[in-house]
Amino acid sequence: MTSTHALKLKNSGVYPTAQRLAIADMLFDRHQHFTADSLQEALIFNGIKVSKATVYNTLKLFVEKGLVNELVIDSQKCFYDTNTSHHHHFYNIDTGELTDIESITPKMLESLSIPEGTTIDNIDLVVRLRNH
Ligand SMILES: [Zn+2]
Repeated sequence: MTSTHALKLKNSGVYPTAQRLAIADMLFDRHQHFTADSLQEALIFNGIKVSKATVYNTLKLFVEKGLVNELVIDSQKCFYDTNTSHHHHFYNIDTGELTDIESITPKMLESLSIPEGTTIDNIDLVVRLRNH
């Protein structure tokens, strides 16, 4: 068990139960995109038995506490992201792979024409790709 992860949970107001810590150990060593299903598979692969409900509840809590970002691609597909800094994504429709867009700067979006009387609050860009 990694105590830095326990500390990370505590500092975010999440009580570090064994299951939450197991999930934190799975997630927080590197930036990654994952779904609830892929996380549960990885946990089971590592011999950690958690129910789907626990995975969903833990992810919901982590999102609420700002430990992971939730990214809804469509009504069927929701990703989670351990990189909680603001950034944009490529989504490959054919492979289902989500990757960060490194090359976009806020400057590039400044020229966007928006309806009069409004200001941009936030931009979440998902560029959908297809293989050819
Ligand atoms: Zn990302």
